[in-house]
Amino acid sequence: MKVFINPGHDRVYDSGAINPVTGARECDIVAKAGKLLAGYLQTAGLKVRTLQDDSLALVCAESNEWGADLFISLHCNAFNTQARGTETLYKSFNGQRLAGFIQSQIVRSVNTVDRGSKFRDDLWVLNGTNAVAVLVEMAFIDNMDDLSLLEQELDKIVRAIARGITDYWSA
Ligand SMILES: [Zn+2]
Repeated sequence: MKVFINPGHDRVYDSGAINPVTGARECDIVAKAGKLLAGYLQTAGLKVRTLQDDSLALVCAESNEWGADLFISLHCNAFNTQARGTETLYKSFNGQRLAGFIQSQIVRSVNTVDRGSKFRDDLWVLNGTNAVAVLVEMAFIDNMDDLSLLEQELDKIVRAIARGITDYWSA
C-alpha cells in the first residue's frame, strides 16, 4: 500500500495557524508529525511519500502520479483560542471509513475533545486527489491546552494515526 503524507502549509511561504502566545507555527508541528508518521508507516511495511508544499495543485498531482492508495493531510486547527479538540475530515465513502478509524484511535490515545469525523466538499486536497483521502485536524494550535497536547504528545497522536491507517487497511 502506498501512503502519501501531506503536512499542511509550507515552512517558507505559508506558516498556517500560529499560537498567539508562544508563536508556535502549524507548519512546523505538522512537518514533525509527517516525519514521525512516515517512519511508523515504513516500519509497518507501507510505501510512503511525503510532500509539504505551498502549491496544493502540486501536492495533489504528485500523489496522483505516484498512484497513492491513501492520502493523509496533517493540520492543526485554530479558531478563537477557546475551541479544543480533534477532528478528521473526509469527502468520499472510503474516506469516511478511514477517517473513522483514525479519529477513534486518536481519541482513545490522548486526552483530546472528540469532535468526530466530518464531511467536507470544499477542501483542495480532498477534491484534487484520486487516493482515499482524509485531512486530520490534530488539535487547536491557538488553544493553550491543545498546544501542550501537540507539543508534549505529538508522538502519541501520530502513532494513533498510523494505527488508524493500518486498521483501515486490514478491515
Ligand atoms: Zn492548516
